[in-house]
Amino acid sequence: MPLHNLHEHFINQPKFRVKQAKKAVYQDLIDDWSLATNFSLPLRESLNQACLLQVQAEFFVAQDKKSVKALITLADRQKIETVILKNSDGRNSLCVSSQVGCPMGCKFCATGDLGFKRDLEPDEIINQVLLMARYLKNSNDKITNIIFMGMGEPFLNYDNVLWAIKVLNDAEGFNLGARHFSISTCGVIPGITKLAKEKLQINLAISLNAPNDELRSKLMPINKKYSLEKVMMAVKDYVKRTNRQVMFEYLLIQDVNDSLVQARELVRLMNHNLFVVNLIPYNPTGAFKPTNRKQIGIFKKFLEAKGINVTQRMSFGQDIMAACGQLAAGKNTD
Ligand code: SAH
Ligand code: SF4
Repeated sequence: MPLHNLHEHFINQPKFRVKQAKKAVYQDLIDDWSLATNFSLPLRESLNQACLLQVQAEFFVAQDKKSVKALITLADRQKIETVILKNSDGRNSLCVSSQVGCPMGCKFCATGDLGFKRDLEPDEIINQVLLMARYLKNSNDKITNIIFMGMGEPFLNYDNVLWAIKVLNDAEGFNLGARHFSISTCGVIPGITKLAKEKLQINLAISLNAPNDELRSKLMPINKKYSLEKVMMAVKDYVKRTNRQVMFEYLLIQDVNDSLVQARELVRLMNHNLFVVNLIPYNPTGAFKPTNRKQIGIFKKFLEAKGINVTQRMSFGQDIMAACGQLAAGKNTD
């Protein structure tokens, strides 16, 4: 019986039992059914047989303590990573993985270098959250946001990602509000279109990273299938239907996508007041050089002067290979 279908275990039992089970797993954060003391011993034992709560993981804490990475070993020995990012404003964002590896092959991304192994099951997504929620509970802290920016392309595993979100959103369970979830995609249009039709208030982010098709196709092969124009059309339709802001992630790579000519092209694409650009310093993966701080400032000022909403992402956890694009599950840590 999987965790994301907990009620299956309680079919012939009173209704409140499922409620109690959800509370034990998602609020009390137990990692062993023996701790669910309001259940009879046989029930606890059968739950332990049917639904293992323990997750096999190794933790890495960054020197500045602002990020913690867990390297998780799944039942089939595949490895994935999940990272908690502690913002100074008190938000704790959990960056979760949606696949083992990624088939998209973006040139700047260590996960892309790994290639694709398989999709994650809803339970394997939920378990990343439970593992980190338990870890944070030890210091009286909790997860405030869940972002699908770990390994993998969430829209290639759409159903399992949405299933996990719905479970984590359940008021009787983990109870994290829809607005506290974000999905980041490299531009998989069917996913954008589908999400636009879900009546869910979760956030959408698009990894743009280049302002024209020629460069984007070089950096992100998916662009040959879903061109910028088509992606932008799908996003505009999403905004029309949902009236929600969309974040465009733009990582800055020295002498590749950080010139003012490219900033001007980017301005042309950002022609909606619900569009926000998030500038991300490129975290070195060996392929390119990061844009220096001064040039990031110049690029950002140019966008702001044109009236574009711009935010800048801090870089976390480079020392534990936990920053965006550096997740390679064990490749660098074993
Ligand atoms: N596959 C999805 C989600 C995971 S990648 C996507 O591509 O959106 C999450 C983010 O990390 C993306 O915005 C991606 O552009 C960014 N990223 C990838 N490699 C990076 C690197 N080396 N440095 C900084 N950001 C990177
Ligand atoms: Fe996959 Fe996203 Fe990395 Fe591209 S940036 S290879 S889509 S994880």
